[in-house]
Amino acid sequence: MNWNLLLVLKHVILCCVCVIGDKLGESAQKPALVRACIDNATHAFIGCIVAELVLFNFKHQLTRHEYCWLLFVATIISSCIDLDHFIEAKSFRLQDATNLDRRPFLHNSTICVVIFILFILTKRASNQLRMLIAMAFVAFSTHHLRDATRRGIWFKSPFQDSSSPAVPYVLYIAYVNIIPSVIVYLLQTTGSSTVPKMKLVEVV
Ligand SMILES: [Zn+2]
Repeated sequence: MNWNLLLVLKHVILCCVCVIGDKLGESAQKPALVRACIDNATHAFIGCIVAELVLFNFKHQLTRHEYCWLLFVATIISSCIDLDHFIEAKSFRLQDATNLDRRPFLHNSTICVVIFILFILTKRASNQLRMLIAMAFVAFSTHHLRDATRRGIWFKSPFQDSSSPAVPYVLYIAYVNIIPSVIVYLLQTTGSSTVPKMKLVEVV
C-alpha cells in the first residue's frame, strides 16, 4: 500500500478510536465495570497506535522483536497508569478507586516533563533506549491529555500543586495526531549516530 495512504489511514483509525472510545464509555446506563474497561482499552489502543506511528519510521533499524516489544511497552504503560487509582485507594474495589478525593500519583503530568527531559539528556544513548523512553512519553502524555479533557492537566512538585482547566477536546485530538511526528523528528535529529541494523520487519 502507498506509504502516504497508509499514514492517513492510521491517523483516521486513531481519531476513530479516540471518539468512539469516548462515546462508548459515556453512557451512564452501562455498568461501571464495563465503562472502566472501555475507558482503559481506549487508553491502551491510543498508546498503541501513536507508538506504531512513531516506530513505523524506524522499522528498518529495529528487529521484529524490538518493534513488537516497544509497541507492547507503550500499550501496557498507557493502560496500567490507571492502576494508581487502586493503589491510592488501597482497595481492589472499583467504587473506591473511582471515588478518590485527589488525583492519583501516576496522573501527575510532572512525570511527562521528567520523561521528556530524560529523552533530551540521553541523546548519546542507544537508539533502543531512546525509543523506550519515547514510548514511555507517548503512553504518559496521551493518557494524561485524554484524562485532561475531563479534569485538566495536573502538575505537582515539591514547589507547586496546580491543575489547568479541562483541555478542549479538539486540542487533545490534535495532540495525539501531531505528537508522533514531533517524536520522530526529535529521534532523527537529536539521536546518537549509531549505525542502523537494517533488519527488515514487516509488521503492517
Ligand atoms: Zn487515567
